[in-house]
Amino acid sequence: MPKLSIRDLDIEGKRVFVRVDFNVPLSGSGEITDDTRIRQTLPTLEYALGRGACLILASHLGRPKGKPNPKMSLAPVAIHLEKLLNRPVAFASDCIGPAAEKLSADLRNGEVLLLENLRFHPEEEANDAEFSRQLARLGELYVNDAFGSAHRAHASTVGMTRFFPQAASGFLMEKELNYLTKATSNPERPFVALLGGAKVSDKIEVIENLLPIVDALLIGGAMAYTFLRAQGLATGKSLVEEDKIDLARKVLAQAQAQEAHAQEKVRKYRLQLPVDHLIAEKLDAEAPTRVVDGTSTPIPEDSLGVDIGPRTIALYASEIARAKTVLWNGPMGVFEIKPFAQGTLAIAQALATFGGTSVVGGGDSIAALAAAGVSDRITHICTGGGASLEFLAGEKLPGIEALTDK
Ligand code: AMP
Repeated sequence: MPKLSIRDLDIEGKRVFVRVDFNVPLSGSGEITDDTRIRQTLPTLEYALGRGACLILASHLGRPKGKPNPKMSLAPVAIHLEKLLNRPVAFASDCIGPAAEKLSADLRNGEVLLLENLRFHPEEEANDAEFSRQLARLGELYVNDAFGSAHRAHASTVGMTRFFPQAASGFLMEKELNYLTKATSNPERPFVALLGGAKVSDKIEVIENLLPIVDALLIGGAMAYTFLRAQGLATGKSLVEEDKIDLARKVLAQAQAQEAHAQEKVRKYRLQLPVDHLIAEKLDAEAPTRVVDGTSTPIPEDSLGVDIGPRTIALYASEIARAKTVLWNGPMGVFEIKPFAQGTLAIAQALATFGGTSVVGGGDSIAALAAAGVSDRITHICTGGGASLEFLAGEKLPGIEALTDK
């Protein structure tokens, strides 16, 4: 069900409370080291200001655990936002209370107020009703543009929506939902998903939910070794989740069963594991490496898999080249160590050139796109890692459920 958009609200001259995701990385001296999250909200903010609204912006930053912590203050963000918006941004040193209420009430059309870190109050994460009410007092309309926090039922994402007749999505929220919904409900086919990273346990729900939707699910990263063990292969010192081997076996059996029984008219899906691996004796850039076959050769006891091998790279790249929609989350190897990064970088390159719709999520995959210099050639980069994984796992996100249906 599509959600109400800021476009559907009559915002002229109104005080619009916008939940944004300004959870940016700060250096030791309080400088913003990456302002992507702030920039991604600018279309919403500029739209509202252009229509004569005034804005009350609220966000969390870091994990201050319910106590004020100057290292996690949003004050530097207010200064940075002034430059990006090219207008003054007032700052309320507490997100609730008489001072914030006065600053909000005094706002004139086109003016902006940023509130201090919501998580300086434990009531934010507790989704406390009174705290929600106090936040809601600051605005006349409510907009949520913080997709990255949509999987959390907090006061600013869920609690305070009860105090407004309508709750609308901002443009960033809308964009994230459009791409993820399209990919999972009506993708242009072939639809290929690539999942990597460290743990099966983090992504098992995503695997189970995506399998019946995709044409092929390609597995990489350490996750692959739990699956290989489930197939009875020796994996040496590779990262394996012993307590997830049974689950991996079940998923493999399901995938095989449907491949065997699929009628001609029923779409088949495939679960593809790496066909070769790059192995090393330790996680060290200087460690000698070699390639072993992934389907028959055991990984020696003294070695661990650190990346997908060249045959797997070629296979996955050809799957991507044939696809019309590709979803990617999680690195193919220990890409932080340069000699083990080739698989992940090759996937980034393949995504940049295949010509279909590419949707990428997860901090590591996004970093790999940047390292490969191809970020601008990706159709959509998800801003919320955790939120996008929960969405892909088929879960309902409370911050989205709380928005008004269109
Ligand atoms: P995740 O947070 O689950 O997406 O996992 C990301 C981490 O997985 C990265 O830090 C990678 O270094 C790690 N990773 C990927 N492949 C492997 C591997 N073969 N062995 C150990 N760690 C890996």
